[in-house]
Amino acid sequence: MDQKIMDFRSDTVTRPSREMRRVIASAEVGDDIYGDDPSSNALSEYAAEITGKEAAIYACSGTMGNLLALLTAGRHGESVLAGKSSHILCSEVGGAAAIAGLCPYELSDEGGIPSPEEIDRAARIDGDVHHARTSILALENTHNYAGGIASAPEEFAAAAREGKRLGFHVHLDGARIFNAAVRHGVPVSAYTKEADSVQFCLSKGLGAPLGSMLCGSREFIDEAVRWRKRIGGAQRQLGIAAAAGLYALRHNIERLAEDHENAALLVKLLKAGGVAVEEVRNMTNMVFFPLHGCRLSDAEFEAGCREKGLLLLAISPRRIRLVTHLDVTRADAERAAEIISEVLSS
Ligand SMILES: *Cc1c(COP(=O)(O)O)cnc(C)c1O
Repeated sequence: MDQKIMDFRSDTVTRPSREMRRVIASAEVGDDIYGDDPSSNALSEYAAEITGKEAAIYACSGTMGNLLALLTAGRHGESVLAGKSSHILCSEVGGAAAIAGLCPYELSDEGGIPSPEEIDRAARIDGDVHHARTSILALENTHNYAGGIASAPEEFAAAAREGKRLGFHVHLDGARIFNAAVRHGVPVSAYTKEADSVQFCLSKGLGAPLGSMLCGSREFIDEAVRWRKRIGGAQRQLGIAAAAGLYALRHNIERLAEDHENAALLVKLLKAGGVAVEEVRNMTNMVFFPLHGCRLSDAEFEAGCREKGLLLLAISPRRIRLVTHLDVTRADAERAAEIISEVLSS
C-alpha cells in the first residue's frame, strides 16, 4: 500500500497546483533583460502596488533578494544591524560579509523584532574610528528561528522608525510577511510602508515554485537591477516563473489563515500529548519543540517519523520544526501529532 507522505519540513515544499500549472503553461513571455517580458512586468507592478512601493524586481530566491538589498543600500566596510538569529546572519552563507562587504552587528531578537533601545545600543554611528559605520537595519517578520512570530504593525513600526531616525536604510526580510499581515488582519502595506525595501518569498506559503520579490523606491530598484545583472541573477523568459508568482499573490494570501489554524491545532494536540512545544505569541505557520529527554538522536527521530509518513526537520540540534502550508490539511496535522507522540514514546 502506498503511504501518504505528509511533508511538514517547510512551506517551501509546496508544489504548483493544477490551475497554477495551467497559468504557467499559457504565460506570455519575452526577454526580461530587455524589459520585454509581459508576465514579469505584470508581477513587478502588482508586487509594487500591494507593498505600496514605486517598483519591484524578481529575484531567484529570498537569499538573492536580501543580498540585492544589502548590495544596493550599503557599501563595502559599512555595517548592517541584524538579528542574532536572523536568516540574513544565520542562513545566507555569510553573503552580507562575503559579497556585500558589510560587517554584521548583532541585535537581540528573541521576541522577533528588536526594540528601539536595542537598535540604539548596537548602532555604530558615534564617529569612533574603530567602528564600521552602520548604514542598514535589517528586520525579519515573521521571524523564522524565533518561532514564526508575527510582530504586530506597531511593534514593527517602532523598530523601523528608530532605524530611520538614525539615518539607516531599513530593509524588511519579509520572506513570510503575508503570514504576518494575515495573522494581524492588516494589509501588507501596514508593514512595508515602514521599510525602505522589502523582500518577500513567492516560493513559500504562497505556493509558487520559484522566486522572491524585492520592492522599494524607483531609484533603489533601478540600482538593484544593475546588481542583479552583475551577480548573474537576471533571466530571460522569466514570465514562466512570474506568472506563477502573480497567480500566488492573487489567490493564496487569505488562505494562509488556514495554515495558521492548522499550526495552532498541532500545538494544542502536541501539548495535550505532553510534548513541550515552544509557545510563542502571535504564532503563524510554524511549530517548534525540543527533543530534550528523548533517547532518540535527531536523525533517529526524523527517521522514525518518516517511516510513518511524516517528514519534519531537526532545524538545529535537539530542536524540531514543523511548518504548515497549502499542501497539508487539518487531518494531516491531527495525524502528525499522533505520529510524533508514537515515536517519542517508542
Ligand atoms: C526562506 C527565507 C529566506 C530565503 O529564501 P530562499 O528562497 O530560501 O533563499 C530569507 N529569509 C527568511 C526569514 C526565510 O525564512
